[in-house]
Amino acid sequence: MSASPSYSDTQLFIDNTWRTTSRMLPVVNPATEIEIGHVSMAQASDLDEAAEAALRGFRIWRKVPAFERSALMRRAAQLMRERAEHIAVVMTMEQGKPLAESRTETLAAADVIEWFAEEARRTYGRVIPSRADMVRQIVTREPVGPVAAFTPWNFPINQAVRKISAALAAGCSVVLKGPEETPASCAALVRAFADAGLPAGVLNLVFGVPADISNHLIGHPAIRKISFTGSTAVGKLLAAKAGVHMKRATMELGGHAPALVFANGNVPRAAQLLAAAKFRNAGQVCISPTRFIVEQGVSDEFVEHFVIAAQAIRVGNGLHDGVQMGALANERRLHAMEQLVADALAQGARIATGGKRWGREGYFFEPTLLIDVPQSARIMNEEPFGPIAAISTFRTYDEAIAEANRLPFGLAAYAYTSSAATVASLGDDIESGMISINHHGLGMPETPFGGIKDSGYGSEGGSEALEAYLNTKFVSEHR
Ligand code: NAD
Repeated sequence: MSASPSYSDTQLFIDNTWRTTSRMLPVVNPATEIEIGHVSMAQASDLDEAAEAALRGFRIWRKVPAFERSALMRRAAQLMRERAEHIAVVMTMEQGKPLAESRTETLAAADVIEWFAEEARRTYGRVIPSRADMVRQIVTREPVGPVAAFTPWNFPINQAVRKISAALAAGCSVVLKGPEETPASCAALVRAFADAGLPAGVLNLVFGVPADISNHLIGHPAIRKISFTGSTAVGKLLAAKAGVHMKRATMELGGHAPALVFANGNVPRAAQLLAAAKFRNAGQVCISPTRFIVEQGVSDEFVEHFVIAAQAIRVGNGLHDGVQMGALANERRLHAMEQLVADALAQGARIATGGKRWGREGYFFEPTLLIDVPQSARIMNEEPFGPIAAISTFRTYDEAIAEANRLPFGLAAYAYTSSAATVASLGDDIESGMISINHHGLGMPETPFGGIKDSGYGSEGGSEALEAYLNTKFVSEHR
């Protein structure tokens, strides 16, 4: 062991007070299948209190100058850095990812907070020349209001920090429904903001039955904006509900990222970088490359290098030194992987490496590569959200684009080619919110992050992410 485990129960945080409730859910370490703690579940009355606290908090926070909001947020970022070692251990215990990935996620959260803290100081309006003398036309940006945010278990801090930071920077307050399966690291993020001196009610944290919480909060009159990260199926339900109540929404949903490898690209480098991206967080990443679409003449070479990279990955308990891929975050994902492989094999695919559960305890699955996978296989159509790569081949550029754009998703896409003309065409032709060509370059706080089509709408990075928490107001004044 390289880290000393310590894990505490997670409470709700409402109106600046941590509270335990009578109903709790168990939290399980996915690497050992051992129960390590509990998380409090909110009842309807807790949710009402959280929404009302958020409304009171909003009335205070929106008046705090952006300069001061920024200073407070930077203190929270500093606390995340100081606490990173402890938080990383907690995250690995509840989520399963290797300690190095947990540490990176925690430190990256500090960068996200700081970037939004600074960006909020540049929330400019504008003056529009008037058609009449004595009239001044002003456009101002105002915070939307209290936000209900819903974040999942794959990146317990990263998914939450993007929403919290953009909302707080804009002057909004938040009720966050964190992930019940990985609650403690998410709570550590909220604690950093609270300890940095956030006024009461500005940031609240709840857990419980997800559908009950979203039903309650989306309809609550205090809530003005919804932000959700998770599956497309649930996102569509929540977007519909937000529509019924005429509330703004950001939907960061599933993907099924195509990775195109052209014969003129650097095939060994493509295989190495794509395998690293594929198996990060055991593939439980919404922008994970998932459909590998390789030009026919180089597919054997690609497979050979990909298999070497996959087999070199050290799988194990994320707390152990040198481990590069941990357990899947929950048992559902393990069963999903077994079913996806069985389905692909039944339809004629072959296993190039991996393909089954790893070890005797914990929700581990081998880094897996499937070849000769027919388009009808489930894995070619459903987001795998696990450590399985599926390869198909193409002959022409048009064929590659057709396959890349075949699915209703449009979150991330990747490509490797040495042709400048192809690079330029890919940027135009691929239907997705983000494209990274010849390197892996997505997900910085300063760059847009979001999808199109069934992958949702809105951005969680760059200046666009702040827009999502601002209303535009036009004021016309006659002197
Ligand atoms: P799921 O669809 O039930 O849950 C996904 C997330 O949505 C969880 O955080 C859950 O708490 C939340 N959720 C579910 N129903 C909700 C509701 N009615 N209201 C509010 N929140 C709700 O299933 P799962 O087993 O946790 O994950 C399955 C799939 O979800 C994965 O295969 C993947 O496709 C997708 N997912 C995507 C992301 C992402 O980063 N975009 C993260 C986690 C899961």
